Amino acid sequence: MINSASLSEITVLHSKLFQRFPELRFGFSTKKGGVSHIPYGLNLSYMVGDDPNNVDQNRERFFGKLEIPLDKLAIPKQFHGDFIKVIHSPGIYDLCDALITQTPGVFLCVSTADCLPIFLFDPVTKTIATVHAGWRGTKLKIVEKTVKRMIKEFHINPGDLFAFIGPSAGVCCYEVGNEVAREFDQRYSVRYSTKKPHLNLKLFTKIQLIDAGLRDKNIEMSEYCTICTPSLFYSFRREKLNSGRMMGVIGIDGGV
Ligand SMILES: [Zn+2]
Repeated sequence: MINSASLSEITVLHSKLFQRFPELRFGFSTKKGGVSHIPYGLNLSYMVGDDPNNVDQNRERFFGKLEIPLDKLAIPKQFHGDFIKVIHSPGIYDLCDALITQTPGVFLCVSTADCLPIFLFDPVTKTIATVHAGWRGTKLKIVEKTVKRMIKEFHINPGDLFAFIGPSAGVCCYEVGNEVAREFDQRYSVRYSTKKPHLNLKLFTKIQLIDAGLRDKNIEMSEYCTICTPSLFYSFRREKLNSGRMMGVIGIDGGV
């Protein structure tokens, strides 16, 4: 049983846009408030060397704070591709980086350290989606493809969609090799000096959303860069194999 004192230690990030919708449950975790030993904190992944019993407790804390039962979660086994799954029930979903549902009571998750977590909500048809995108997924335009899949499957109007792009590697810190930078249009690749280029994956993601038909005013982008905000976030770039993972979750009450 979790006491309310421990729950109050947890810092959960919210979205200004999503807070307009009382039917929507959304939150994004930080490092703060977990039971794991340093450097893991509130790590929510079983795949990064943390004690699984502690991860269990961390998940109970984070999802408990949001009042989301663990058996209502839909968790993708992410692999940096562009496979998108339309689902109707909670569970673990193999080999996909985006989930879409219209089923109330199914809470879609995404797990990240520096990669981009993207959350989509259509208040008209009550359709939601989560997307995980590193540089490979961003190059594959998985975000744009997810919106197109929502249109195809559920006949949503992209002009009705709201999007939140969560904390992730910012252009300030996301240095890449020339061979990676060359994979992207020049407008997403910045050189601050004669050193290696930096990629602006957040901007490319936003442009994909606009290209898919979203309105600029319906897109919210977190200002946080995971690499240069060590007090709040894990960063694979900064912490390598000892990096924990944050999770974001979105869902609509009711149903299953
Ligand atoms: Zn930064």
